[in-house]
Amino acid sequence: MLKIAILGAAGRMGQMLLREVLSKQYDATLAAAVDHPQSWANGKDTGGIIGIDPSGVTVTTDKDAAFKAADLLIDFTTPAAAIDHAAMALQYGKKLVIGTTGLGAVEEAALKTAAQKTAVLYSANMSIGVTLLSALVEQVAAKLDHEYDIEIFEAHHRHKVDAPSGTALLLGKAAAKGRNVRLEDAMVPARFGNIGARVPGSIGISVFRGGDVIGDHSVTFAGIGERIELAHKASDRGLFAKGALRAAVWLKDKPAGLYSMRNVLGV
Ligand code: NAD
Repeated sequence: MLKIAILGAAGRMGQMLLREVLSKQYDATLAAAVDHPQSWANGKDTGGIIGIDPSGVTVTTDKDAAFKAADLLIDFTTPAAAIDHAAMALQYGKKLVIGTTGLGAVEEAALKTAAQKTAVLYSANMSIGVTLLSALVEQVAAKLDHEYDIEIFEAHHRHKVDAPSGTALLLGKAAAKGRNVRLEDAMVPARFGNIGARVPGSIGISVFRGGDVIGDHSVTFAGIGERIELAHKASDRGLFAKGALRAAVWLKDKPAGLYSMRNVLGV
């Protein structure tokens, strides 16, 4: 049985992950559940906080104990915490699945360093649908030239703190890869005022925030006389938790390296 610890266990995603691990549908057990020192859930039973029978595992702040107890840790926290968790995965030689978004160059470097010694899987979107979508976006972008303008749209709930979403960036990177350019060079993340005509080859990203939208993404290839739209809509956050558990089970026997959900699905 794979011993899993959840980092960020009291969060929206953390609770979904607890539900999946405690469902006993996977060849996995809950070894530990950790959250921030100021979390409302500290000291509470993990089963209790998601409204099921007690599991006997309480939410704690003791990360060292969690890294010692688990074979693999799943992180859905914040970029700052994810850096620490990558360093601890390296220190303890434990496998790590990271779903936290908003990671910058520093955080990504920390993941790469950890991945030299242990297996790390990072994906800004753990859903099967978005993973397939990103493969499709790369394929379509590779087939169409600059006559087709690429525009990405994403919508999320009012509490989301990073923008554009990690998924929009993931899709942008897939489009850029298909076009053989770097997203950093092609991306236009916001437009306002007298911005002039569209720069050929640019990849636009626009953002909506409001209500309880779990996550909508679309990638449009806008040509002259036609538009191709590839889209994904998440209607249940449990989807990401199921994907993260699938990734964890897949990662169990993998050697050191940095993996993504595309490796899990082989696309
Ligand atoms: P949330 O704010 O509800 O939960 C985050 C949790 O992490 C909180 O309980 C918080 O107390 C805890 N936390 C913060 N700092 C911590 C620390 N230093 N140590 C331990 N715990 C800490 O947020 P959420 O909606 O659950 O999202 C979490 C992250 O996951 C975000 O970056 C979000 O964008 C991302 N996300 C990714 C996917 C995916 O498929 N990859 C899907 C949904 C959300």
